[in-house]
Amino acid sequence: MFHNRNTLFHLRGQGLSDLLAQLYRLQSRIRFVQERERKRDTVPSELVEVDREFQEKVQAVAALKQRLTEAELEKRKAEGELADHREKLKKYQTQLRSVQSSREYSAALNEIDAVEKAIRATEDRFLDLEEEIETAKKDLESREASLPAETEQHEERLKDWRKEQREINDELVGAREEIGQLESAIAPRERAEFRRLIEKKQGLAVALVVGGSCSACHVRIRPAAMQILKNGREIVYCDTCKRILYYDPQSS
Ligand SMILES: [Zn+2]
Repeated sequence: MFHNRNTLFHLRGQGLSDLLAQLYRLQSRIRFVQERERKRDTVPSELVEVDREFQEKVQAVAALKQRLTEAELEKRKAEGELADHREKLKKYQTQLRSVQSSREYSAALNEIDAVEKAIRATEDRFLDLEEEIETAKKDLESREASLPAETEQHEERLKDWRKEQREINDELVGAREEIGQLESAIAPRERAEFRRLIEKKQGLAVALVVGGSCSACHVRIRPAAMQILKNGREIVYCDTCKRILYYDPQSS
């Protein structure tokens, strides 16, 4: 409706100023919610460092657990490979006893040599993994043992902020309720148009007229446009920033 002046003629003077007042209030509530959510979700600057240190500890535990799981898998895989290699070694040793020619004999010896090398390499890998797992387990154990106390201490440091977050959440309940009520009183088409405009205009779709100027871009409103605004029969957009102008005789 904001771009089609004809439909506005259906609105009586009072209807339009009511709609603008509703939109202005709706916008201020939406902005309030966004601002409070931002505040709630931003770690206060004095706690950033403390929080980062704590998050690192939590993440270190998670990373250790992940690595332990991987290392256990790798260890089992190495065990399987080792069993395979030993099986092969036995087979070649048996073959060696029944070779018919020196060519077969040296071929079997080569096979045995290769598989013995593979066994040594896999055994080394297996022992490394065992050592890594043992170290990681000890590290994890001590980190997990101190984590509950650290968490408690961290929450104690964050106590004031947590309280503020809860208070913000309480405020948001009321604000969201009012947004719902305001939106349900506005026709869907106008509501959608308003939402589009508020998105396009970085949260400010309706600008209050203050001292004869648009309060969003501070450009003076032409006298003719001011007259239309005062009549309150048509929606007027700011020439400069293209926002809907809201003229409230009490605040201008
Ligand atoms: Zn403007």
